[in-house]
Amino acid sequence: MKLTRKQFLQISGLTLIAAAAKKVVRGVVISPASTKTKPARWGMAIDMGKCRHREGCNGCIKACHSAHNVPQFADPAHEVKWIWKQPFEQVFPFAQTEYTRELNTGHPVLLMCNHCDDPPCVDVCPVEATWRTDDGIVTIDFHRCIGCRYCMAACPYGSRSFNWQDPRPAIANLNPDFPTRTKGVVEKCNFCEERLAKNLAPLCVEACEEHALAFGDLEEPDSEIRKLLRSRFAVQRRPELGTGPSVYYLI
Ligand code: SF4
Repeated sequence: MKLTRKQFLQISGLTLIAAAAKKVVRGVVISPASTKTKPARWGMAIDMGKCRHREGCNGCIKACHSAHNVPQFADPAHEVKWIWKQPFEQVFPFAQTEYTRELNTGHPVLLMCNHCDDPPCVDVCPVEATWRTDDGIVTIDFHRCIGCRYCMAACPYGSRSFNWQDPRPAIANLNPDFPTRTKGVVEKCNFCEERLAKNLAPLCVEACEEHALAFGDLEEPDSEIRKLLRSRFAVQRRPELGTGPSVYYLI
């Protein structure tokens, strides 16, 4: 069928409008800023059952640490981590009874920075080297960090690490596209903000073969993460502290 110029313009215009109305990013759906009354608030939902299903798998951790040049020190006292696992009973010490212990005790829970709504780590930084962006990512300027570690003391989740040594010799495969840090600098998960800027989902989400991680806009009622939080029971780490974690655990 041959299209007239008018029909062609009508169809291509509609296609562009449809594309703009819904940006689909490898499992992440972002609504256009023009229809939003609030900026995005990025959040993560971790399906504990799916994660437990592949307990020995560390694909998400390897992908994150490799891409972000996270050093691997042999001495555990110098450990630097962006995403890691810890036994359930340490993460949710009050969520156990003698009857549920059997299911959870000893099983690892995936942890990362919670990108808190009201982050105490940000409040204590004397040089404003860390802040919360408009879309809810708690980020760090590595060059501005003076290594006072107040933020580490303020974070109730142990989400920040300190470079006690020069991290560069301890990076196995240097990624030239991501900055390395220096001795005396704090670091942590950044929700892959460098990938979000390119409309890509965080690497841990992409690397998980079990699809145990869901990422999206908590302010968008139709986002995948909001649908999950509507349909599943979810908990946050230490909600009683009032920090407002953006990471949820689906039970
Ligand atoms: Fe800050 Fe810790 Fe909350 Fe991350 S988890 S935003 S480091 S207080």
